[in-house]
Amino acid sequence: MSVQNLLALNWKMNKTPAEARAWAEELSEKLAADKPELAVMAPAVALPALAAHLPPGVTVGAQDVSAHEAGAYTGEISAAMLVDVGARYVVVGHSERREYHGETDADVAAKARQAQANGLMPIVCVGEGLDVREKGEQVPHTLAQLSGSLDGVGPEVVVAYEPVWAIGTGKTATADDAEELAAAIRTALRERYGSEAQHIRILYGGSVKPDNIASICAQPNVNGALVGGASLKVPDVLGMVDALQ
Ligand code: PEP
Repeated sequence: MSVQNLLALNWKMNKTPAEARAWAEELSEKLAADKPELAVMAPAVALPALAAHLPPGVTVGAQDVSAHEAGAYTGEISAAMLVDVGARYVVVGHSERREYHGETDADVAAKARQAQANGLMPIVCVGEGLDVREKGEQVPHTLAQLSGSLDGVGPEVVVAYEPVWAIGTGKTATADDAEELAAAIRTALRERYGSEAQHIRILYGGSVKPDNIASICAQPNVNGALVGGASLKVPDVLGMVDALQ
């Protein structure tokens, strides 16, 4: 399948705009021209600084978006606002938002639809917790989550499989574990979108680092990674870029 790998960096709630600018300048000095597609999912307030200082071809994205177009939704940020400051992607349904903010599959789908309506590419996150994995129910659980989270969502989407037990814990799924779910997700996407499913990138996320990214992304249905902890320091990012070449 000829889909370019996407290395999507999720900074979570880290880096001020000034720190984001310094990170972007360091990356600009050191990043080779030949690289996989790289996108930085930053706190919304850091997006203008990043968009202005990232090297050519590196894109920016947000970590969440309102499900509403505009109006009386205090504290929310609309898809149009994100586009206006340069965002191309937005993460929706990250497990931290599902867990700490009670986001349901229906909420995630509404956010993804809103993103697409404004020209933003949603990165829809799904994945099982440890209890589900221990029961061996990771495939049906994740596919049910995917189905709800893609309700009414078009094929201009990225799917990130992120087993919750592997996020920020240092425990990485094996390449075979990642492929098991990526292949099941690909089949579900084919049922939903037909031949367009072959162009949809499926990312793996969960304690990805320079020393494990290559084997995971070499799997036939894995088209890149969503990376949290190892995205904060430029040398780690360069290590992952090198490993993917
Ligand atoms: C994430 O935040 O999506 C993530 C995968 O984090 P980490 O790489 O730190 O496990």
